[in-house]
Amino acid sequence: MRKEVLDLLMIKCEIAIIGTGPAALMAGSVLQSKGISVAFFDHNKAAGRKFLVAGKGGFNLTNNEDLDGFIEKYNHPALQQAVRLFTKDHFVAFLNNIGIETYVGSSGKIFPVKGTKPIEVLDRWISQLKDNGAKFYYGYRLIDFQNETLTFQCKDQLIQVASKKKIFALGGGSWKVTGSDGKWLTLFQSKGFATTEFKSSNSGFVLANYLNSLDLEGNFIKNCRVFDDCISKSGDVVFTSYGLEGAPIYALNGSFRQSNEIFIDFKPDLELVQIKSVLEKAKNPTDGLRHLKLNKQVLLFLKDCTSKEQFLDPEILAGLIKKFPLEIRSLRPVDEVISTVGGIGMHEINESFAAIHFPNTYLIGEMLDWDAPTGGYLIQGCVASGFCAAQDIIVGLSLED
Ligand SMILES: Cc1cc2nc3c(=O)[nH]c(=O)nc-3n(C[C@H](O)[C@H](O)[C@H](O)COP(=O)(O)OP(=O)(O)OC[C@H]3O[C@@H](n4cnc5c(N)ncnc54)[C@H](O)[C@@H]3O)c2cc1C
Repeated sequence: MRKEVLDLLMIKCEIAIIGTGPAALMAGSVLQSKGISVAFFDHNKAAGRKFLVAGKGGFNLTNNEDLDGFIEKYNHPALQQAVRLFTKDHFVAFLNNIGIETYVGSSGKIFPVKGTKPIEVLDRWISQLKDNGAKFYYGYRLIDFQNETLTFQCKDQLIQVASKKKIFALGGGSWKVTGSDGKWLTLFQSKGFATTEFKSSNSGFVLANYLNSLDLEGNFIKNCRVFDDCISKSGDVVFTSYGLEGAPIYALNGSFRQSNEIFIDFKPDLELVQIKSVLEKAKNPTDGLRHLKLNKQVLLFLKDCTSKEQFLDPEILAGLIKKFPLEIRSLRPVDEVISTVGGIGMHEINESFAAIHFPNTYLIGEMLDWDAPTGGYLIQGCVASGFCAAQDIIVGLSLED
């Protein structure tokens, strides 16, 4: 009787993949394509919940940018190398192969064709994995691991999993409701992995002294440029109840974390002298701002954030239009943002995403401390890291044969 109980609580598999986000699923698909069997474990009741949340917004699966520009989006060589090996074209071909057609949007982002729901993308991916024999274990929370075993808690049972190799794809720390709760950090610390706390990325700026009473929320600052000494990103920024959101803001998150001064140029297409000249010729500053085609909300914002003397002096006002210092109080709370930095230090893995100090172990996706902008680059980075880990396992297993 005792032996039966023990057998029941032991699962054996060739490769265990912990997590069911895009990084995990891609690793599984690549392994399966070479006939290697995989089993997925997730503490959630269903797979890929954050992937579905991403789908509620734009659902940019990847991006059509050329390879050189694409690679520059990643702040670590391991991710750059991964997206070189597994490009957006590979990912699009993979999606087509599972029956998901894609299209390139006007901004270069690559989406599933109109009418395809995010759940359809996920279901097709999982169906293909299941059809090829993958097992999915839900409600399994990782609580420990050794070289060739893992321990999960499922309800009030402990389950041992024996597998030759394991791939962790436990995600970052935002949107805990999706299962990516980052609670695994302490377990990995106890195993000797260097970790850092999760911090917000691809986040809005919470502005100091931001007067919501101005009722700017939802209005755009079109074609502006947000910059510091090193980075400059142009595009549209939107006023929110707490400050500013938008791709140029996300691009400067790292600058804020490094305490750099960040500025906004409201009129990147005009030189300082041209702006000054328009303001000098105008009846008054408000009229001048209108001539510059700055919308009412930008006008209100500038008026509110400058002193009377600054607003009335064409030279100073022109300078502020070109280089307005953003007084940023913070990024948005970790749980609300699109992605996080922090997690497992990148020096803990090699270029194949294998753990350097822990045998038979791979770490992929957002649980590692790398950064990239939203717009398809995050998901592409995740699937590319899954590809690299799987390839390394395939090579390793073929050498053993
Ligand atoms: C609102 C929002 C919009 C987004 N939009 C986009 C977009 O348009 N384009 C883009 O490229 N990216 C986007 N992203 C980011 C993208 O979704 C993530 O970067 C990506 O899902 C990370 O994939 P992953 O496989 O590393 O981990 P995740 O998808 O986070 O999956 C991790 C999995 O691990 C499981 N897990 C965690 N801990 C345990 C444990 N102890 N035991 C067992 N299982 C565990 C979780 O339940 C989860 O299923 C968006 C994210 C958000 C929140």
